[in-house]
Amino acid sequence: MSTAEARPSLDFVREAVAEDLRTGRFDGRVVTRFPPEPNGFLHIGHAKAICLDFGIAAAHGGACHLRFDDTNPMKEENRFVEAIKRDLRWLGFDWSEHEYFASDYYEQFYEYAVSLVRKGRAYVCDLGPDEIRAHRGTLTTPGQESPNRGRSIDENLELFERMRAGECADGSRTLRAKIDMASPNLNMRDPVMYRVLRATHHRTADAWCIYPMYDFAHGQSDSIERITHSLCTLEFEDHRPLYDWFLDELEIYHPRQIEFARLNITYTVLSKRRLVQLVDEGHVTGWDDPRMPTLAAMRRRGYTPEAIRAFCEKVGVTKTNSLSDVALLEHCLRDDLNARSPRVMGVLRPLKLVIDNYPAGQVEQMEAVNNPEDPGAGTREVPFSRELYIEQDDFREDPPRKFFRLAPGREVRLRYAYLVTCTDVVRNDAGEVVELHCTYDPETRGGTTPDGRKVKATLHWVSAAHAIEAEVRLYDRLFRTPRPGKDTGNYVDDINPHSLQVLTGCRVEPSVCGAEPGHRYQFERQGYFCVDPDSSPTRPVFNRTVPLRDAWAKIDQAAGRKGSKAS
Ligand code: ATP
Ligand code: MG
Repeated sequence: MSTAEARPSLDFVREAVAEDLRTGRFDGRVVTRFPPEPNGFLHIGHAKAICLDFGIAAAHGGACHLRFDDTNPMKEENRFVEAIKRDLRWLGFDWSEHEYFASDYYEQFYEYAVSLVRKGRAYVCDLGPDEIRAHRGTLTTPGQESPNRGRSIDENLELFERMRAGECADGSRTLRAKIDMASPNLNMRDPVMYRVLRATHHRTADAWCIYPMYDFAHGQSDSIERITHSLCTLEFEDHRPLYDWFLDELEIYHPRQIEFARLNITYTVLSKRRLVQLVDEGHVTGWDDPRMPTLAAMRRRGYTPEAIRAFCEKVGVTKTNSLSDVALLEHCLRDDLNARSPRVMGVLRPLKLVIDNYPAGQVEQMEAVNNPEDPGAGTREVPFSRELYIEQDDFREDPPRKFFRLAPGREVRLRYAYLVTCTDVVRNDAGEVVELHCTYDPETRGGTTPDGRKVKATLHWVSAAHAIEAEVRLYDRLFRTPRPGKDTGNYVDDINPHSLQVLTGCRVEPSVCGAEPGHRYQFERQGYFCVDPDSSPTRPVFNRTVPLRDAWAKIDQAAGRKGSKAS
């Protein structure tokens, strides 16, 4: 291990926090927040922000608040609040008593707004949404002032009160900050602070018919909670001057906002708007469809919180947007699953194998290692009998070069059991191979060869009479291109039509009987699998979390990477 690895240098966000602690800027306090809008489920991009927000607070004995930025009643729902809390806990983070809602501050926001009106810094505007947009100007041309910009303070106070009292139609009036219609920063061109909207809010119900805009709520919420470091993604850099303006004009406590790059991953979309579309248009079965990049989906698929946290640490925190390779995420996943998953044998596409010289009715218990990576995991017994299932793929009647598995006349090892030699093949009317006949060598119990003879292949198997029938769902990437939508213009066109393959009639060794949803295994030679909630007591359903092959590990070694940052 190099020195650099032993003492990782701080990223620029942690460096900034350390600097503030050195200079005493916030009297030694560190308070961060994670501010989701409850309009969807959390995704792996959020996990990056969560690890940073909670990680920095924990590193300095500070607190991280969970604050729901719920300013848009049209899109927000309580079920999303619940899902967000569930997923945060699962990921391993605890906000203790610090659970807040921007909607708890509505009255305070209103008073802030009134005080800005009193200062002559905000006015009621009668332009509709389209007119406001048309007046806004462009990056190269200044905006046009609203005809109502010169209203008197008294008239503004009265009109704003009437907006709140429900005397104005939806969309007919707004409250706007009086800043600068010629500002090069479009966010500063008299942004809307309040809109009239009759919508039932998931917490305040119908108490309000005016709602603050996100930009008028976010900074003030941070201020009210006395957040020290408000960490957000780069797209908010251009909003910072506006947040600063509000806090300065209101003369209230001022947190430090620091922007970092969003997480983007190949073959994945990470925008809630798009994820909503995938759910609403039925491209997936729901927010927790195991192909989705949401935490709920990843949990269902078999991801561990540890793997996700390790990935977030590896991608690090940077100031420029980049694209992370989904293979790195899968590498972190395999790394963790390899260490913790019990091994079992499961046959996905069964082919009957009959051992003609094995006594009918005899059953032997074969001792199998639960996890070679973890000696403490012990062993288990797997029943062996005359009729078995092996994988269809492990037999070729006419084996090509380099195919060393079973073929007529060839001997292979059955894992933990015996060496068998294929003697005969049974076909159905269509000519397909439906059954193999073999002989076994009783001298090779446990897969040993007393005479030292070599066989080139070891196959997994299950005993036909003892195995449990299961459904297995195999997943491929939800998108078939690394940057969905880049070439087609519409990411929906890049959806992979083969992202889900359902196999029924799979056979799994009996030790998995009764495994609860969420239980994880490695099926030897097939990958990592997780029991799905769709399972019934008699018929388990498994999601394949990820196959075994790890392309990234090879890249990692070949490139001599230290595995720290993938920027
Ligand atoms: P989306 O773009 O997916 O709709 P959002 O920013 O609208 O995300 P919020 O619920 O507002 O979703 O996000 C909560 C926090 O998570 C914000 O601080 C946001 O910056 C952060 N966040 C969202 N997406 C990512 C991402 N891809 N990478 C890192 N942080 C993210
Ligand atoms: Mg947002």
